[in-house]
Amino acid sequence: MIRFWKKRVTDPIQTDPVLEQKRKVLKQLVKQKFGGSLAIRMVDSGSCNACEAECNALSNPYYNLEALGIYFVASPRHADVMLLSGVGTFNMYHHARDCFEQIPSPKWVIAIGECTKDFGVFEKTYAIKGHGDLKIDHFIGGCPPTPTQIIEGLIAFAKGI
Ligand code: SF4
Repeated sequence: MIRFWKKRVTDPIQTDPVLEQKRKVLKQLVKQKFGGSLAIRMVDSGSCNACEAECNALSNPYYNLEALGIYFVASPRHADVMLLSGVGTFNMYHHARDCFEQIPSPKWVIAIGECTKDFGVFEKTYAIKGHGDLKIDHFIGGCPPTPTQIIEGLIAFAKGI
């Protein structure tokens, strides 16, 4: 009888020393600035979904943000930060504001992706309102940003607090 549970069934993760150093810095900043836990509520205000796909990768075993104390949460009431993607359509504009209102203070908005700033690859059309006077505390550029760029953006955000 083959005992599968005694055999390795996955390949070991190939780590990148540069990325590991960035993860270490971010973990330290989360500890210093947020007591070891940073909760993020992601809001898609009208994106192409590529920024969300890159953010999803942050939860895989390679980037493993949860091991650094950073969590994506389902409710804004449990969040510290709203991570905002997309252009700000008329249909999502007010939802983004409602979400921000429900985050307990202190709270911050991080915009991710070029189209949050100037509509990026989208033209401004009748469906797009933008983000108006919503105060963006930090911007992470890229179309889309890679997971490593998002980690760098979170480091810059945490350093600025
Ligand atoms: S910034 Fe680029 S990748 Fe991200 S949602 Fe906008 S168009 Fe898509």
